Amino acid sequence: MALDRKTPNDLNAFWMPFTANRQFKKNPRMFVAAKDMHYTTSDGRQVLDGTAGLWCCNAGHCRPKITEAIQKQAGEMDYAPAFQMGHPIAFELANRLIDVAPDGMEHVFYTNSGSESVETALKLAIAYHRARGDGARTRLIGRERGYHGVNFGGISVGGIVTNRKVFGPLVPGVDHMPHTHLPDQNRYSKGQPEHGAHLADELERIVALHGAETIAAVIVEPMAGSTGVLLPPKGYLQKLREITRKHGILLIFDEVITGFGRLGAAFAAQHYGVVPDLMTTAKGLTNGVIPMGAVMCTAEVHDAFMNGPEHMIELFHGYTYSGNPIASAAAIATLDTYKEEGLFERAAELAPYWQDALHSLKGTRHVIDIRNEGLIGAIELEPIAGEPTKRAFSAFLKAYEKGILIRTTGDIIAMSPPLIISKEQIDELIGTLKDVLETLD
Ligand code: PMP
Repeated sequence: MALDRKTPNDLNAFWMPFTANRQFKKNPRMFVAAKDMHYTTSDGRQVLDGTAGLWCCNAGHCRPKITEAIQKQAGEMDYAPAFQMGHPIAFELANRLIDVAPDGMEHVFYTNSGSESVETALKLAIAYHRARGDGARTRLIGRERGYHGVNFGGISVGGIVTNRKVFGPLVPGVDHMPHTHLPDQNRYSKGQPEHGAHLADELERIVALHGAETIAAVIVEPMAGSTGVLLPPKGYLQKLREITRKHGILLIFDEVITGFGRLGAAFAAQHYGVVPDLMTTAKGLTNGVIPMGAVMCTAEVHDAFMNGPEHMIELFHGYTYSGNPIASAAAIATLDTYKEEGLFERAAELAPYWQDALHSLKGTRHVIDIRNEGLIGAIELEPIAGEPTKRAFSAFLKAYEKGILIRTTGDIIAMSPPLIISKEQIDELIGTLKDVLETLD
C-alpha cells in the first residue's frame, strides 16, 4: 500500500518531527502495517522491530486484546470530560497502575505524553512546596544529557544542547548535575557500571550554592535512554535519594522509557530499589497505541494539596484528554497483556541472553563501547572525524535495508525490542547488525 498521491508536495505537507525533512522526502521510508515483532514497508518487506517503535510497543504490535478494547470503548463512550466529572474506567486504570507501581506511589494524574508528564511533575513539585507554605522552593535541577521531552520545562531541565539552544532563554532557576557516562572507567560494562556513584555528590555542591530552601526538585531518568543508554553507576541513585531526602528536595524519576517492564521490573524504581516522590510515565502505558501519559506520586505529595490552602485543593492543571476513556481502555488492556503473558518477568529472564548477544559485538568494526540493562542496549561507534553522527546514521539506513529497525543518537546505536522478542530474533537482530557494521565505511 503506497501513497495514492505522489507529488513531492504531498510529502511536504507533513512537517515531520525530529527528522531531516528534506533528506527524508527525497528517499522516504514508509511503514504501512505492523504485527507482533515486525513492520511491513510500503514495498512489501518485513522489518524486525529492534526498538519497540519509539521504546513504546513493549507487547509488540497490533495485539488483539488491545485493539478489541479500543474498538469496544469507542463504541460505548468515546469521550467524557475529567473536569468536575468522572468515568469509571479512568479510576479503574489508576488503581491498576498503583498495583504495579513501587510501594509508596499512591496517586495518578493523567496526561497525553511523556513531555506532558514531565511538565506536570515539575509543576506539581513546585506547587507541593507552596501548598506547605514553602513557596521559595522553586529551583529545578536536571542533568547533562538528560532527555525530558520537548516542552519548555522539559528542555530546560533536560541537558541536550541541540534540543535547547534554538528555543530562547527557557525556564529560569534551573541547574544541571553532570551526566553519569564515564567511558574511560566503565567501557564495556555489563549492567550497572562500577564507577561514578560520587557524581551524585554534585547535588550537594548545587545545594551549597543556592541553599536547599530554594530547591523544589531534582529530575533524572533512572537510566537515560534517548541520549544513548547511560546507566546509573552502582549506588548513584541511592545517593541521590539520600541527599534529596536530607534537604527536603523532591526526587522525580522520569520513567517514560524505563516504565512497563523494559528493565525486567514494572519500573526502574523497583529494579534499582530506589523509590522517588514522583514518577513520570507514558509510552508503554498503552503499548504506544494511543497517546497517554501518567504521573504517579506519593500520598505525601498528594496530601499536601488536599490539606493545603483552600485555593490549592482544586489543582489548576490538567488536559482536555486527561484520563480519556479510549486511552484508559487501551492502557487497561495493555496492563492485562503484560500480566497474562508475564512480559516483565520475560524481560528479566531474557536479559542475560540479550547481554551476551550485545557484548558479542565487542571487537566488531567501529565499535568502541557497549552498554546494556534489561532489554535495552547501546553500541557506540567511533565517530568519523569532523562528521559526528554520520556513521551511526549510515548504519541505521543500511540496517533498515537489511530488515532491522534500530535507533541512533549521535554515534550511538540504541535498541529496545518489544518484550515478546524470541532468542532467535535476538540472534537475527544482532547478527544483521554485525553484518551492517562490518561493511560500513
Ligand atoms: N522523557 C523521557 C525519558 C523520554 O525518553 C521521552 C521520549 N523519548 C519523553 C520524556 C517525552 O515523551 P513524549 O515524546 O511522549 O512527549
